[in-house]
Amino acid sequence: MFKEMVYKFAEEQIKPFSAEMDREGNFRKDIIAKFFELGLMGIEIPEQYGGTGSTFFMSVLAIEALSMIDASAAIYVDVQNTLVNNALLRWGSEDLKRKYLPLLAAEKLGAYALSETGSGSDAFALRARAEDKGDHFLLNGQKMWTTNGGEADLFIIFANVNPEAGYRGITAFLVERAFDGFSVGKKEDKLGIRASSTCELIMDNCRVPKENVLGEVGKGYKVAIETLNEGRIAIGAQMLGISQAALNYGSQYSHEREQFGRQIADFQAIQFQIADSATQLEAARLLVYNAARLKDAGENFLKEAAMAKLFSSRMAEKITSQVLEIYGGYGYTREYPVEKLYRDAKIGQIYEGTSNMQLQTIAKYLLSK
Ligand SMILES: Cc1cc2nc3c(=O)[nH]c(=O)nc-3n(C[C@H](O)[C@H](O)[C@H](O)COP(=O)(O)OP(=O)(O)OC[C@H]3O[C@@H](n4cnc5c(N)ncnc54)[C@H](O)[C@@H]3O)c2cc1C
Repeated sequence: MFKEMVYKFAEEQIKPFSAEMDREGNFRKDIIAKFFELGLMGIEIPEQYGGTGSTFFMSVLAIEALSMIDASAAIYVDVQNTLVNNALLRWGSEDLKRKYLPLLAAEKLGAYALSETGSGSDAFALRARAEDKGDHFLLNGQKMWTTNGGEADLFIIFANVNPEAGYRGITAFLVERAFDGFSVGKKEDKLGIRASSTCELIMDNCRVPKENVLGEVGKGYKVAIETLNEGRIAIGAQMLGISQAALNYGSQYSHEREQFGRQIADFQAIQFQIADSATQLEAARLLVYNAARLKDAGENFLKEAAMAKLFSSRMAEKITSQVLEIYGGYGYTREYPVEKLYRDAKIGQIYEGTSNMQLQTIAKYLLSK
């Protein structure tokens, strides 16, 4: 019921603007406001802090349903719930939770900034620095690729307080957009999820109060790893939604299009392409749902999360490509919705750890036993 409700909302309130937002590379602020009104921005935040008090699985369902209409819409909700809120819930002091969670549930967008120009897969080689100044830290450096950066008010920023200690110096900070010395830089012009903002952040003697350290000083690497382990399950959900939408369009079009005097759906080759895609999608869905279920049950889900993202992002690229071919030449134009799905699917193999990094995580887990 919840998934259906989110889908209906997206169909009525997002779909009419989706192509235009993609073309312009800009997401409508009034739709972000609706995410808050619907309670989609604080799914796992307990009711005492103004959230819905629900489960990670529900976040996954919301992201899947939104992605069936617009993968950019889904990533706003994804980053808020599975990276920002989750990190704060897990690592935040009681004071930080009381201060920020009600805002994140009701009105303020969050973002998560780990990557830099020189550090992506090797995230802990980050060069942003934080200097202890007694009652505050001074942050200096630059972040790249920050999803939601264009509109966010609160940023989780990773910086190193002690570079000699290597990754053991990495610390997570909660930075408000209005803090002195903080600014948002260039916005990327992208292949897919074009409406989602992906921005550079600049910290130039950015003053962050000591109480805004998220978790312990020097333990930011744990915050980063553990948050992303959860987050990638939700990227799997985004890939499910994109693929389901492609499959629905492909099935419908195969009944509409006639060649050789009959519907192309009558050709066994098309039937098998659709049957094979649906089977791949079902397998991906079970991987994603199982990883989310394990997470909610408090079980180890590291390997399953990596497998879910790896498989579902590869599957999404394959299915969207296949459906584009079912549309023939029309699929290659912006008149029809499938070229956008094809472009949107590609990001699943890159963010929150590339496919190679997922394979590395799975292999490390299997071979360390
Ligand atoms: C649209 C978008 C949104 C993003 N949003 C965010 C965000 O909100 N917050 C954030 O912090 N980051 C974000 N990112 C950054 C993203 O997580 C990184 O781009 C990703 O982790 C890859 O890093 P990189 O781009 O530096 O590639 P690199 O790490 O340079 O990788 C290049 C290639 O080398 C391969 N490679 C690297 N190391 C190895 C290895 N050890 N073994 C085998 N292969 C390897 C990779 O698989 C890849 O194929 C976003 C990126 C994009 C494009």
